[in-house]
Amino acid sequence: MNPVTPNPAVEFSGVSKVWGSATALHTTDLKLAEGEFSVLLGPSGCGKTTTLRLVAGLETPSAGRIKIFGRDVTEVPSSGRGVSMVFQNYALFPHLSVAENVAFGLKIRKISSAEIESRLKQTLVLLGLDHLRDRKPSQLSGGQQQRVALARALVADAKLCLMDEPLSNLDAKLRQSMREELRAIQQKLGLSVVYVTHDQTEAMTMADHVVLLKEGRIEQQASPSKIYQKPASLFVAQFIGSTKMNVLKVEQGRISGSDFSLNAPTGAAFLGIRPEDIHFEGTVPTRIRHTEFTGADLLIHSQIGDQNLTVRAPGKSVVQLDSALTLGWQPSDQHWFDHDGMRILT
Ligand code: ATP
Repeated sequence: MNPVTPNPAVEFSGVSKVWGSATALHTTDLKLAEGEFSVLLGPSGCGKTTTLRLVAGLETPSAGRIKIFGRDVTEVPSSGRGVSMVFQNYALFPHLSVAENVAFGLKIRKISSAEIESRLKQTLVLLGLDHLRDRKPSQLSGGQQQRVALARALVADAKLCLMDEPLSNLDAKLRQSMREELRAIQQKLGLSVVYVTHDQTEAMTMADHVVLLKEGRIEQQASPSKIYQKPASLFVAQFIGSTKMNVLKVEQGRISGSDFSLNAPTGAAFLGIRPEDIHFEGTVPTRIRHTEFTGADLLIHSQIGDQNLTVRAPGKSVVQLDSALTLGWQPSDQHWFDHDGMRILT
């Protein structure tokens, strides 16, 4: 017997979105698995929000079909798609209390008041908002307002929740704790989430599956660890990672502008090395130009020939500016790219 393959939470078949001469999303096939936290990631204007709005039914595709849990919703309006949404600006009603804001969507759906109260209570408790239920949004902190927006989405009990940069208005500390909280709730409820962000740290820490977009096309999609360890292109390599991957130009088996020769594969034009993969015991001659102390780390910006090479060393490291340093790395930490910036499989 064939095992039953579950329907993806979201499936795009040949979906595109064009406005006049601008293509926000080129023809795209995409499957996002049920119960996973999927993140649409990429720089400003790459088509993340457009993709999310296509799933939500807030935009109509120029071509292609969209399915949600196996059901073709291409022609179904947003209200009939059974999805909930959380936006960056929270969109709370200022004149309604926390409880009224959260229950609003249930009330207009004519659900019995006993059931509304029970779901409301459960959701407010889940998000630690029960003691704030009578407050107005203006009497809440940014983080609490964000929780109310989240509660409003979760109370609807939709299996698919769409989120567009929901944490971007929070300060760094709160953003980090909300990330953990959101992820925990998603796992507890077994929710399928599609989450838009331009913040690679957010994507890496929260996602089961990252879809990295560039200029309206999927550049790579994979788990955070795969996308980090095997970036498909220079674009991915440099977009992912809290300190950018070093990219050295390579010519005729040498690091350009230097005498240092490498065992480069055929067609190699660029060598990528992550700053944390470089160590002090080696044979690559560099000169230290400047350093950046972040507390945990010391970023050492060095130079080989006329190219820059950043090393991420422990914060306690002591180095001398303008001194020579011979560096090294494991061959297995080398990432090779061709002239077009595409990964060379080694
Ligand atoms: P950001 O992170 O800045 O929100 P994004 O990745 O979400 O960016 P989109 O908002 O999806 O990007 O936009 C993708 C492209 O489509 C952009 O070039 C944008 O200018 C264009 N676009 C989006 N909405 C419209 C519209 N209503 N009419 C015309 N062009 C649009």
